[in-house]
Amino acid sequence: MNKNYPFELQDLKFNYDELMPCISCNTLKFHHDKHFLGYINNLNGALEEYKELHNLSLVEILSDLDNIPESIRTSVINNGGGVFNHSFYFESLCAPNSKTIPEVLKNKIEERFSSVEHFKEEFKKIAMAQFGSGWAWLVKNSEGDLKIISTSNQNTPLKDGYIPLLTIDVWEHAYYLDYQNLRAKYIDEYFKIIDWDVIASRL
Ligand code: MN
Repeated sequence: MNKNYPFELQDLKFNYDELMPCISCNTLKFHHDKHFLGYINNLNGALEEYKELHNLSLVEILSDLDNIPESIRTSVINNGGGVFNHSFYFESLCAPNSKTIPEVLKNKIEERFSSVEHFKEEFKKIAMAQFGSGWAWLVKNSEGDLKIISTSNQNTPLKDGYIPLLTIDVWEHAYYLDYQNLRAKYIDEYFKIIDWDVIASRL
């Protein structure tokens, strides 16, 4: 995502058909070009009159919500969160099975979750348990420890001081065209399209 206001839709780093069969062209097109763009337009609309916020990065805005005027705070939480979360999600993806987990991240995951397989099970459990729309995250806390959390709607882990590493969008618009009600199947397929180099670079 570009640095600050006005936020702009960036091209995906892969072609629309590159995540197949895990995520279809149709899902990606609607998700990126329509849903994501909608959040960007709404966020820019909310910030337009507030020039004092125009120099702030999205991370700065979302990390200090008390600094946002009350009249636009809810809109910034929903739409700014939508922009951050989608940008983070799309940047985390790549062609199926094209990346292995860098050693430094693998060691950290094994240290905390005993194995990558067990990490995936725990992550899936949290993603499945998110009732309604939201996100599951692998984050790092201020002590440097890994943790799996979920956020509802477009809330981000930033306001709680976490450093996000990995996320999955479990809003139905992220998977309904491909998997209908089968969120578990979507999560299993999602594990094949994670760009582990990007995740490790966020450590
Ligand atoms: Mn989404």
